[in-house]
Amino acid sequence: MTVNRALFDEVMVPNYSPSAVIPVRGQGSRVWDQSGREFVDFAGGIAVNCLGHCHPALVNALKEQGEKIWHLSNVMTNEPALRLAKKLVDATFADKVYFANSGAEANEAALKLARRWALDNFGAHKSQIIAFNKGFHGRTFFTVTVGGQAAYSDGFGPKPGDVYHVDYNDLSAVEALISDNTCAVMMEPLQGEGGIVSPEAEFVKGVRELCDKHNALLIFDEVQTGVGRTGELYAYQGVGVTPDILTSAKALGGGFPIGAMLTTTAIAQHLKVGTHGSTYGGNPLACAVAEAAFDTVNTPEVLDGVKAKAELFKSLLNDINTKYNVFSEIRGKGLLIGAVVSDAYKGKAKDFLTTGIEEGVMSLVAGADVVRFTPSLVIPEADIREGMARFEKAVAKVVAAN
Ligand SMILES: *Cc1c(COP(=O)(O)O)cnc(C)c1O
Repeated sequence: MTVNRALFDEVMVPNYSPSAVIPVRGQGSRVWDQSGREFVDFAGGIAVNCLGHCHPALVNALKEQGEKIWHLSNVMTNEPALRLAKKLVDATFADKVYFANSGAEANEAALKLARRWALDNFGAHKSQIIAFNKGFHGRTFFTVTVGGQAAYSDGFGPKPGDVYHVDYNDLSAVEALISDNTCAVMMEPLQGEGGIVSPEAEFVKGVRELCDKHNALLIFDEVQTGVGRTGELYAYQGVGVTPDILTSAKALGGGFPIGAMLTTTAIAQHLKVGTHGSTYGGNPLACAVAEAAFDTVNTPEVLDGVKAKAELFKSLLNDINTKYNVFSEIRGKGLLIGAVVSDAYKGKAKDFLTTGIEEGVMSLVAGADVVRFTPSLVIPEADIREGMARFEKAVAKVVAAN
């Protein structure tokens, strides 16, 4: 069988448009394709491979658990899930954990829990959900409707109702909309897919206060910001505002699919037996790998390392920009970095990504105008420098072609 990009078009649903490059092997922050070409990985999946590829701690956890037990239904619990939940609870504001398999599912659980909590405590009128334009919360129909890009949720029939959007960082818009009918406000503590947009400190604090005033739950979607990405275990710890519900996925499993919803005992009790569930959620293999990832990331070495690596990353990007003047701003927090293209390249962020692949470096975009970098949290300095040297060549090429 010839396995190549053409086979994708033949046998796969056309909802993606992948690169012609098919990676077959990865080690740390390097990836090799079918022909043996090597790439520096500044993408990490999409902010997923927090410890790079084939980190020995994760490989060991997967092998060890793979020889013990792979799956149990939720009729029985399992040791890796319990250990991971205990560690998440000990390291955060939360008392309780629900495991899912993805970010969207963790968010779906969060939204359903918020609605049930509001119904039980206040009645059916309290169902309004406030979220933010350009926010991203996943692709299930509820989460994509709460996400702030109507283009992603239009065209699938009637949407889940009572969901409203305002601009991120616009506190007065939240204030104008929120009422005692509001059940929850859902936000990313730094918008990822929406363009690497940081919140203003006053905004997050203000939203927390408005939620408290109106008995609404504050849900932080930390699917992209969580597990060390911003230099804290969870971004809320750096923002200084504690949510009522927090969701985690992407980096949580370091490349193995898992999601989690974290909350307090008082709120959690509203998901009574039978109200929600998942066949695979809390699967022992996923939880064993996630536990190893958690143990590795949640250390001063790794978390402080993120801050130091981010400085180097941004300074090299700034050097490139001084020469070529292609970015109007380099922003983000920790190793969640966005380079906003200047007016001459508006709508063309993807050109830098595709040309980067030609030069042997993998990056991402966040919308049409932002090149996004989400490398491994433990990427060696030499790989940052080599990847940036390749990225500079890509920038030179894009400039020459523009
Ligand atoms: C990626 C992402 C999701 C969706 O996660 P999936 O695992 O793709 O379902 C949700 N929220 C945020 C902030 C994300 O970045």
